[in-house]
Amino acid sequence: MISASGVNKYFGDLHVLKEIDFEVPRGQVVVVLGPSGSGKSTLCRAINRLEPINSGEIQVDGKPLPSEGKALAALRADVGMVFQQFNLFAHKTIVDNVTLAPQKVRKVSSSEARKTAMELLERVGIANQAEKYPAQLSGGQQQRAAIARALAMRPKVMLFDEPTSALDPEMVQEVLDTMTGLADEGMTMLVVTHEMGFARRAAHRVVFMSDGEIVEDSTPEDFFSAPKSERAKDFLGKIL
Ligand code: ADP
Ligand code: MG
Repeated sequence: MISASGVNKYFGDLHVLKEIDFEVPRGQVVVVLGPSGSGKSTLCRAINRLEPINSGEIQVDGKPLPSEGKALAALRADVGMVFQQFNLFAHKTIVDNVTLAPQKVRKVSSSEARKTAMELLERVGIANQAEKYPAQLSGGQQQRAAIARALAMRPKVMLFDEPTSALDPEMVQEVLDTMTGLADEGMTMLVVTHEMGFARRAAHRVVFMSDGEIVEDSTPEDFFSAPKSERAKDFLGKIL
């Protein structure tokens, strides 16, 4: 569903993605781990083409990333993205946040969009918050609304960039449970997270990045019990 080959990205002289090769097959959950500054967010943003790359190729569902126009809008619709900051529209209700893009981009009717939105809000457990504004919800509820909003576009793949890092500790689990539910339903997911419990339980593969490189790409069992590189051992030693 996602494939990257020989991807390089520079910010000025800073080489932040170095010959990145990796794949996310349909239906797999791949967790990306690595220290701060290792290039995890840049990789996510490159897949959605929020950041152009300098060389190499990224494909989503077998097609190279378009650089502009309608094709780029279609790519963005196929790739759902959930960030650390929920980025909900503050002046719109939760249900309106969820119906907006499907109506604008997918040309879904307002009644159809609303029906789907309510189903999705039900699925993430916040249907009773539909008519409220984002500021009236807890952080965990807002992040679940952001997930529902991304799902409303019926994406082929979901990217999560540290979706629980901005949450109070007691709200982390409800968001992870929502993500685990999606994984169980077979959604293709690329998840940047420091939540090792989620990685162990939900990931088919763990990709460990350090200093712009993919240093390890293995099963969670292998990665956590027998990391091969010094960099991974050092990282795990600091966070576990
Ligand atoms: P991570 O998500 O793993 O913490 P990032 O992908 O955010 O890492 O950043 C990788 C490197 O790129 C860091 O050194 C960061 O400072 C740098 N970087 C990220 N975004 C920009 C930008 N827009 N301009 C310049 N440097 C950036
Ligand atoms: Mg980041």
